[in-house]
Amino acid sequence: GTPTALMVGSGMGAEKGILIRNGEAVQTFKDVDLIAFDKTGTITKGKPEVTDIIASKGFEDKEVIYYAATIEKASEHSLAHAIIERAKDNSISLGEVQEFEAITGRGVEGTVDGAWIYVGNRKFMEEKGITFEEVEEKLITLEEEAKTAMLIAKDKELLGVIAVADPIKEDSQKAIQKLESMGIKTAMITGDNQRTAKAIGKKVGISHVISEVLPDGKVDEVKRLQKEYNIVAMVGDGINDAPALKQANIGIAIGTGTDVAIEAADVTLVRGELSSIITAVNLSRLTFKKIK
Ligand code: ADP
Ligand code: MG
Repeated sequence: GTPTALMVGSGMGAEKGILIRNGEAVQTFKDVDLIAFDKTGTITKGKPEVTDIIASKGFEDKEVIYYAATIEKASEHSLAHAIIERAKDNSISLGEVQEFEAITGRGVEGTVDGAWIYVGNRKFMEEKGITFEEVEEKLITLEEEAKTAMLIAKDKELLGVIAVADPIKEDSQKAIQKLESMGIKTAMITGDNQRTAKAIGKKVGISHVISEVLPDGKVDEVKRLQKEYNIVAMVGDGINDAPALKQANIGIAIGTGTDVAIEAADVTLVRGELSSIITAVNLSRLTFKKIK
């Protein structure tokens, strides 16, 4: 019974763009109660683009881009890439970075032309004692549009705001709705702020949104969900998703994501399409009905 069924299940999966590393996962899929999704690169394409630049009074857009893009040269974050691309598009040549530090879940800081530059979220600015009340309303508007807004400061003075939008993958909404209709609960776990996360959650039909989670906090969130829902699958693409993928009853990696995530996962969605998960659940339900 079981070994043959597993082989059949795995073989069929490969054909449909699902790579199975751990055969047990094929069996577990039929019993999954909740699927938790990472946001960036999993539900969204992971290719954010700059949509808005708001310079503070006395500054120009190109100064905001220049300082933000220069300091972000030293970062690997997808938000950094978006800002650097914008500088290229606007033909703004970048300066030199001297000091540099990336603070997880917060932003980046360092020196450009001898000035201290900070790019990051509210928490980061609060920790640095940089005030931004004058843009708070604008931040809220941007976040309600599902954009991620970053604050840029120079020597503790606010230079402005840069917002990015990360397009949602074509099939995310359909896949999530289908899973819900199959009786599987869905959740989103992200490091992004609550308002942006909720706006994206609303677009794709995920009501259970867990936001502002630090990279090493994702595994604790999965543990918490396992207590509440029992069998939990986690889908992610990033290095920082790996521990959560290991913790979940089924770890699902996005094939277009990092090797670290793929190695930590039981299953890989080769094409990175969330709808492949439905195939996996159906495959499991069918396969294990047959041998009972
Ligand atoms: P995620 O990848 O889910 O957005 P992260 O933990 O990487 O989560 O980032 C959380 C937040 O920290 C981002 O939404 C952003 O506000 C801030 N942040 C992280 N890295 C950077 C960066 N290089 N530049 C600007 N902001 C950043
Ligand atoms: Mg991600």
